[in-house]
Amino acid sequence: MDLKQIMRDYFLDLDAAAKDADRKVAWCTSAGPAEILRAMGFEVFFPENHGAMLGATRVCMETIPAANSKGYSPEICSYLTSDIGAYLRNITPLTKAYGIESLPKPDVLVYNTNQCKDVMHWFEFYANEYGVPIFGIHSPGHLPEVEPEHIADVVEQFRQLIRSLETITGKAFEKSELVRCLSLSKEATDLWSEVLDTAMSKPSPLNFFDATIYMAPIVVLRGTRIARDYYRELLAELKEKVAAGDGAVHSEHKRIYWEGMPIWGRLRHLSNLFDSNDTCVVASTYCNSWIFSDFDPEEPLKSMALAYLQIFINRNDAYKEKYISDMVKRFSIDGVIFHAAKTCPNNSNSYYNLPGRLKGNGISTIVIDGDLCDLRCFSDEQSTNVIEAFLETL
Ligand code: SF4
Repeated sequence: MDLKQIMRDYFLDLDAAAKDADRKVAWCTSAGPAEILRAMGFEVFFPENHGAMLGATRVCMETIPAANSKGYSPEICSYLTSDIGAYLRNITPLTKAYGIESLPKPDVLVYNTNQCKDVMHWFEFYANEYGVPIFGIHSPGHLPEVEPEHIADVVEQFRQLIRSLETITGKAFEKSELVRCLSLSKEATDLWSEVLDTAMSKPSPLNFFDATIYMAPIVVLRGTRIARDYYRELLAELKEKVAAGDGAVHSEHKRIYWEGMPIWGRLRHLSNLFDSNDTCVVASTYCNSWIFSDFDPEEPLKSMALAYLQIFINRNDAYKEKYISDMVKRFSIDGVIFHAAKTCPNNSNSYYNLPGRLKGNGISTIVIDGDLCDLRCFSDEQSTNVIEAFLETL
């Protein structure tokens, strides 16, 4: 299945849904309860995905200042400022890519604070602009362990969400539909996990920069057959590459773990940089963030609460230290690069000496400064020097 075609169909269908009075569109955060929305008949749009598109196309460099001048600080999430700026300027990369004039107007906005609080402010902007209902799942945060009371809290919030959505759709929630969507989501996320695990092979058949592209369906099409079928095929292709000894980089001598957000506007540059240094970035926290192994269609709400609570970004530092140490062993990693994203402290884990503690455990680490979208925070020259000097030490 062609990924470009999958994404084209997804966005064109969203556009059609937004123009059809009989269909409903929900906007959702990337680790929000998309399965509930799909099960209740909503087409689902993810503003973070749009933020990543604005970053990858570098259109964000025109739109971030528009949000800044409206009072949204250059210090806050640059997905948010890229996206709100694009709305204010009435532009979107969807126009050039698919001929779509504007984003699909939402009927409801649903966010989950399991990743950060910025999403609440982001979605509140749109609730005011569009005059549509907004619902937040307020997840207990930064957990050492996910306890039964945390799960019960989120399950109750899911129930309230479902009751609110019923008033929008005018239809009763059907558990069998949620079971169906969650089963598909579970299959897709398990396949995505297997896809990423192929990078344990030496040489690795995929690198982080490819994976940031391959991950689109697990972000935006969870709960559909399309995502499941795409990862089935991708896994088969990658297994063939493993069998043929076909690596993602020309010559793999070193293996790196990428911690933190991608730098969307510099994926190509960084990919080439590692390739020319005979290095493969084989694993990352970011791509792993859409592995939801705890989904269980037998207990849909409870297992969704568990899976969405125990994501890496929502855990404490002791958990993160162990997680990265385990990844280093599993993927035979030579060194860990921490990306300190200026506008996303929520997903930058270098500020509280985690790199230092890993170093104390014999793991080589380095920190580079940058940002997910705002390229004013990233220097090609400086990062190249730091990365190449680091690779020489490994
Ligand atoms: S986790 Fe970071 S990048 Fe994602 S929405 Fe929150 S602040 Fe933005």
